[in-house]
Amino acid sequence: MINGEMQLNAPIRWAMVGGGRSSQIGYIHRSAALRDSSFQLVAGAFDIDAEAGRQFGIRLGVAADRCYPDYKAMFEAEARRADGIRAVSVATPNGTHFEICKAALLAGLHVVCEKPLCFTTAEANALLALARQARKIVGVTYGYAGHQLIEQARQMIARGDLGEVRIVNMQFAHGFHSAAAEADNPSAKWRVDPKIAGPSYVLGDIGTHPLYLSEVMLPDLKIESLLCTRQSFIQSRAPLEDNAFTIMKYTSGAIGYVWSCAVNAGSMHGQKIRVIGSRASLEWWDERPNQLSYEVQGQPAQILERGMGYLHARAIEDDRIGAGHPEGLFEAWSNLYYRYALAIDATDRGDAQALREIRYPDIHAGIDGVRWVENCVRSADNGGIWVKYT
Ligand code: NAD
Repeated sequence: MINGEMQLNAPIRWAMVGGGRSSQIGYIHRSAALRDSSFQLVAGAFDIDAEAGRQFGIRLGVAADRCYPDYKAMFEAEARRADGIRAVSVATPNGTHFEICKAALLAGLHVVCEKPLCFTTAEANALLALARQARKIVGVTYGYAGHQLIEQARQMIARGDLGEVRIVNMQFAHGFHSAAAEADNPSAKWRVDPKIAGPSYVLGDIGTHPLYLSEVMLPDLKIESLLCTRQSFIQSRAPLEDNAFTIMKYTSGAIGYVWSCAVNAGSMHGQKIRVIGSRASLEWWDERPNQLSYEVQGQPAQILERGMGYLHARAIEDDRIGAGHPEGLFEAWSNLYYRYALAIDATDRGDAQALREIRYPDIHAGIDGVRWVENCVRSADNGGIWVKYT
């Protein structure tokens, strides 16, 4: 059970790039990082508009002289301080992630970066090399992976409860962009501009979330080949897609499917993962994250509830309140930031053993997402053909 007790001797001095006043995702980063006293927000370059960022930072309680006009000024100035930042979160639009992460690693900082980590696997591998050289972590905020029942599914599958895994059926299919919402919404507008969003819209923006959940639940599953088709139902979004179907063949003989969609009219979020084995299936849906369906062929279906004693020990250690009370996305993100803090601490202490035991979306998760998008786009843009996974 997590109860807010400090895990480290002192909080990690932490900054943000992006996540300004009007951003979608800035607040959940701060809320998650600050909740368990492992991070302290001491600096920031919060906004593309320097003055707006400064004003916002001050309102967040950051000293005015540590609200910087941009990330370069922040990394330089903080490196000169004895009490400078040790970690930074990057919550800016996609097209800036590579340069900011690179600069942060070169400045000797641990990084938590938004997804997608960057645009190409070449860039992602360059960040991996830099992180190794600097001995720093790169966390990627696949936030749903912090829900406790994802861990429960991982443990049940490892124990063989499903039998042999045959099918992984995934979707993240919401309806919020069924019309051209980007016309009057700046947060939506950059998402359909390839210069800022990258080579895809829904594949990278949302499809990679359930993909990462599948990697957590099924760590041994490896994609051998895939076929993707993508569409732009709002034509002005082309060449970026607002819908995509991806079929994957795994080396084990299992098959997987991801539906990534922003035009699923009427759907609120629609992120689901169903893992189907020879004996039973598990299903998790992000709109009811405290429940996991467990269906054994020929038996009545069961709903496993978060926080209950019958769950695996690893699936209850992140609980913040007893069963029955709903936990949600903010708690899932807090669980990830809790682990980022432990991973930063273990890395700085050179404790490789402790580091190995902390499961969190790291740079490899970031690389996997970028690689998957690259393969999907290659398949789709060659006519929706099977491609070997490279
Ligand atoms: P947004 O457009 O709502 O906000 C972006 C923020 O970054 C704004 O405050 C803007 O002023 C600031 N900014 C832009 N360029 C900057 C720069 N160079 N330096 C400093 N600040 C800068 O975008 P958003 O929806 O919050 O998305 C940000 C990132 O988070 C994206 O990469 C997106 O894919 C990701 N995201 C992830 C999740 C998730 O579940 N993990 C959810 C939503 C968004």
